[in-house]
Amino acid sequence: MRQIDHLIAGGTPASTGRTHKIWNPSTGEVQAEVVLGNSDTLDAAVAKAKEVQPAWAATNPQKRARVMFEFKRLVEKNKQELAELLSSEHGKVVDDAHGDVQRGLEVIEFACGIPQALKGEYSQGAGPGIDVYSMRQPLGIGAGITPFNFPAMIPMWMFGMAIAAGNAFILKPSERDPSVPIRLAELFLEAGAPEGLLQVVHGDKEMVDAILDHPDIPAISFVGSSDIAQYIYERGAANAKRVQAFGGAKNHGIVMPDADLDQVVNDLAGAAFGSAGERCMALPVVVPVGEDTADRLREKLIPAINALRIGVSNDPDAHYGPVVTPEHKARVEGWIDTAEKEGAEVVIDGRGFSLQGHEKGFFVGPTLLDRVTTDMESYKEEIFGPVLQIVRAKDFEDAVRLPSEHQYGNGVAIFTRNGHAAREFANRVNVGMVGINVPIPVPVSYHSFGGWKRSGFGDTDQYGMEGLKFWTKAKKITQRWPDGSADLGNAFIIPTMG
Ligand code: NAD
Repeated sequence: MRQIDHLIAGGTPASTGRTHKIWNPSTGEVQAEVVLGNSDTLDAAVAKAKEVQPAWAATNPQKRARVMFEFKRLVEKNKQELAELLSSEHGKVVDDAHGDVQRGLEVIEFACGIPQALKGEYSQGAGPGIDVYSMRQPLGIGAGITPFNFPAMIPMWMFGMAIAAGNAFILKPSERDPSVPIRLAELFLEAGAPEGLLQVVHGDKEMVDAILDHPDIPAISFVGSSDIAQYIYERGAANAKRVQAFGGAKNHGIVMPDADLDQVVNDLAGAAFGSAGERCMALPVVVPVGEDTADRLREKLIPAINALRIGVSNDPDAHYGPVVTPEHKARVEGWIDTAEKEGAEVVIDGRGFSLQGHEKGFFVGPTLLDRVTTDMESYKEEIFGPVLQIVRAKDFEDAVRLPSEHQYGNGVAIFTRNGHAAREFANRVNVGMVGINVPIPVPVSYHSFGGWKRSGFGDTDQYGMEGLKFWTKAKKITQRWPDGSADLGNAFIIPTMG
């Protein structure tokens, strides 16, 4: 059986003997296993990172940028291989896996501009003979703990910015699809990065706890489910670390009566069912405003959903593939059971779906639930599968209130032709990322990504200038070069600039 090992400079310490199986979700077979590390594994990686980080931080930013440029070239060159590998472990279709790599690469492109981003600020003559300048310095060693659903993009969000800023980085990817993170780290080495600058350790809670408690890791970025995000945030902060922790989501798509419904249906099909709904920026809840809009939308949604093609992840014609594990398939189907018991109308039922020739694969058919209400558990919680819920809103006020009052606040979208309604909605809704006629509003790499409420713990977003801020600390220097002629004044009062 293929074994996936850590990537630690100078070799890996003795194995713990614990492993985790890696499925091929399309066939339902175990295709590999990944070793699970512990605090000794982490110590080895930290020791190496400590050795190389000071010289990397002292390397001028143009040279650091050159490594990022070369890494970008190598990822582009190997994109097909990365996408296929990703697809075989995750289950998302290969075209979608390309998108996963591409959205991460865009952050690497932003990180290539690190000399410009790190220029700092300077105020000449802030007082008599006094200049003030500020600079951002790396923290040392950063760690990233990432989820299964974007095994290329999310690691690149984190290590791209952290390393360009002068840090070493230790990545703990999801144990469910760890091969692409390892390939990315290999390509980073090939791009000319010193050994030890980017290392990958595998593991589960034991490894995560070791990271949270390690005295030489001052900053941790996490993306995953909300309960774990909160745990990471609290334990990391209790250890006086800088922590950003992004959690789950339940994004709503508001459909105003004037929306172009054909466009909405097309957008919803991709945003609710693409990647089998395993995206934190998926749109699993649609909120038509008014009964008439709801009925018209439902009528158009049914044939569109029935036309979706589910296939193995390397089927070029499939709209979406299997979910990631058998446990996850059971979980998603369990939520459909719950919704039905709670009184939701199961309009299209994806339970018990079986793909001919791949009966052991972890496929869930597309599911449409109508008349979902806000008191239902299946509405309150994240399902993370190919399930679209219709929650009917009375009016615009109701449509603003629903996503605003939900425990999650990652993304939201409004579909309308009315600029005033869209503007009003974007201003008032209590959610971190808003799309106006854009179903999946993941901000481009030079803006930043981050949800609110239980979708994001901590105060700094991912990537863009917010990412740079997270991975650096600001130093403020006030300088004076006296020539001996100045009146020294009273040194016992707090200095003012006159
Ligand atoms: P997960 O929370 O199960 O795992 C995330 C990471 O935490 C993994 O590396 C895992 O090994 C680790 N982990 C798991 N259990 C742990 C424990 N008990 N203690 C410590 N660490 C633990 O998440 P997942 O299933 O891999 O990913 C899906 C979730 O991630 C969804 O909730 C999704 O919404 C969320 N997500 C959020 C964003 C965002 O930006 N907000 C982006 C992508 C995914």
